[in-house]
Amino acid sequence: MDILSQILLLREELDQHNYNYYVLDNPIITDYDFDLKLKQLQELEVKHPEYFDENSPTQRVGGAITKNFQTIAHEQRMYSLDNSYSKEDLLDWEKRIQKQLGDVPLEYTCELKYDGASISITYENGQLVRAVTRGDGFQGDDVTNNVKTINAVPLRLKGDYPAKFDIRGEIILPFAGFEKMNQELIEIGEAPYSNPRNTASGSLKLQDSALVAKRPLDCLLYSIVGGGLELESQFEALHKARDWGFKVPQEARLAGNLEAVFEFIDYWDVHRHELPYETDGVVVKVNSIQYQEELGFTAKSPRWAMAYKFKSEQVSTKLNSISYQVGRTGAITPVANLEPVQLAGTIVKRASLHNADQIEKLDIRIGDTVFVEKGGEIIPKIIAVDLKQRPENSVVTHYITHCPECQTELVRNEGEANHYCPNFYGCPPQIIGRIQHFISRKAMDIEGLGGETVALLFNNGLVHNYADLYQLTVEQILPLERMAQKSAENLVNGVADSKNIPFERVLYALGIRFVGETVAKKLAKHYKNIDALSKASLMDLILVDEIGERIAQSVIDFFENKENTIIIERLKEYGVQFEVVEKVNLDATEILLGKTFVVSGVFTEFSRDDLKKAIEDNGGKVGSSISSKTDYVVAGDNMGPAKLEKASKLNIPIISETDFMEMLKES
Ligand code: AMP
Ligand code: ZN
Repeated sequence: MDILSQILLLREELDQHNYNYYVLDNPIITDYDFDLKLKQLQELEVKHPEYFDENSPTQRVGGAITKNFQTIAHEQRMYSLDNSYSKEDLLDWEKRIQKQLGDVPLEYTCELKYDGASISITYENGQLVRAVTRGDGFQGDDVTNNVKTINAVPLRLKGDYPAKFDIRGEIILPFAGFEKMNQELIEIGEAPYSNPRNTASGSLKLQDSALVAKRPLDCLLYSIVGGGLELESQFEALHKARDWGFKVPQEARLAGNLEAVFEFIDYWDVHRHELPYETDGVVVKVNSIQYQEELGFTAKSPRWAMAYKFKSEQVSTKLNSISYQVGRTGAITPVANLEPVQLAGTIVKRASLHNADQIEKLDIRIGDTVFVEKGGEIIPKIIAVDLKQRPENSVVTHYITHCPECQTELVRNEGEANHYCPNFYGCPPQIIGRIQHFISRKAMDIEGLGGETVALLFNNGLVHNYADLYQLTVEQILPLERMAQKSAENLVNGVADSKNIPFERVLYALGIRFVGETVAKKLAKHYKNIDALSKASLMDLILVDEIGERIAQSVIDFFENKENTIIIERLKEYGVQFEVVEKVNLDATEILLGKTFVVSGVFTEFSRDDLKKAIEDNGGKVGSSISSKTDYVVAGDNMGPAKLEKASKLNIPIISETDFMEMLKES
């Protein structure tokens, strides 16, 4: 096969796998195999720039920078929707339509109303050419580079698509992705995003598309515009869009009358909380395109469509008190303690108040009756105070000036919403939080030690910082609550084992502000050891890929602190890894070439990751599940019975780790 055909074939395969994964949610190859193919394509494209294609699957990773988003006029206006809040509203709407159309029987398409940022995407000859935000409806911003990084958006279509058309939809951020993004922000001590919708629309306006590519955005489509198609109905249009490769949610239903529409609404009013993304209502559309054309538009919206807004679940309750929590990075979060009340299926006792500005804006006072709402976030929020019910003698809330835990005066940096306790090294929740971060799974992953035990150790004066963990003895721990010989031994052994954790994770574990997992990896790779990193200047740090001034300054501050340097010296003495160990495997062979292994169970000689690495270093592949393509299953202790059965059913040899090592020696 010539190079071009190879490239085209790989692109087609990758497009299809991408579609299976992101649109159908049904991958048929492992991530590993996908990455392998992608790498193959990347290499070919680098060697043959003449075959560059801006819609190649390799372009999904982004990289294009948009300094100024160009304004583009929509060929056809993007309307908004009229809202309705009750079934009566919908009945009235139907009456108006019937009057205009002359009492014809009507069918409706019912769709969910996705809560994100609207987008209009233009395709020409099956290729994505442009994506524009709604803007004011007449013109919007060209966000093509950013939209192309969203995996669910097809760059190339399949089937019988028209030569040129626009498709409209909503760019959303599913809850899971939103939570994950926020978790990462919290871990590095930044303020989390407030809701998925704003985060989705904010993402579209990022200048660096590589950053957009990292956000787990999704795109749900609902309307085809132009294209000269002779479509009869909206429902048919949804089918077409699906056939061409777009993600059109399967929840859409055809309703024979308003009764059926109400059923749809009632169902989703209850079940919307089970969806992976946020919806704020249902969109009801007259199904017949011919009727749609007859009905036309008002100044603002189509006459043939109506949004039905769910009532956001709201209750009123009493504010008993406000408490202030101190996080690992010293950030203060005010929390409202409420009279317990039932809301959206759970009992709510607390709500976030975000920061001092929020408290001032709401003018919220102890004893007030407040309205609480549950939106996309897990923690409900207070949206207003019921002033009519305010007790006469209520007093204005004054934000605290001193840390509730260590009494240090709080600071608030210009432009930041949160107050901080600056006593980083003496404030108990900050110390405990830092140690908890240090031992966490993605950091030092210390087995046998949990967050509560850390607090217990600190409160009993056994540890004051994470270096102290390495001096703990079984005798010291044993007298603590709920500690037995076995658990004390596990703890000490877990701490000792963490000396094998590689430098990049140690660096993350140190808890330097703004240094998350990814940044830690970058820094470790660049500086190779802690001494080089600690000596780096601000300029030097900024020159490292993806390190900005804020991160750089934070690294400098960390190493300028004497306590930190003492702790690091101690950790070094205990044997914690402070340099990158280049694992060039001199013994690497090709002996396992063409063989696929599945690794299962717990091993004694290898860690599971090392075993996988050994397979790959020697030319083999690691599969994620047992199939007819598996050549060997390497089984350790506790291999699951289902796997065992599957392997024997398919006649796949099950080998031990010793067998595996023998295999490598055979070269
Ligand atoms: P609004 O912003 O309240 O005027 O609502 C109109 C917006 O709802 C449209 O611009 C779309 O972005 C959005 N929308 C979400 N889901 C749908 C859907 N299924 N059909 C039409 N519009 C939708
Ligand atoms: Zn404090």
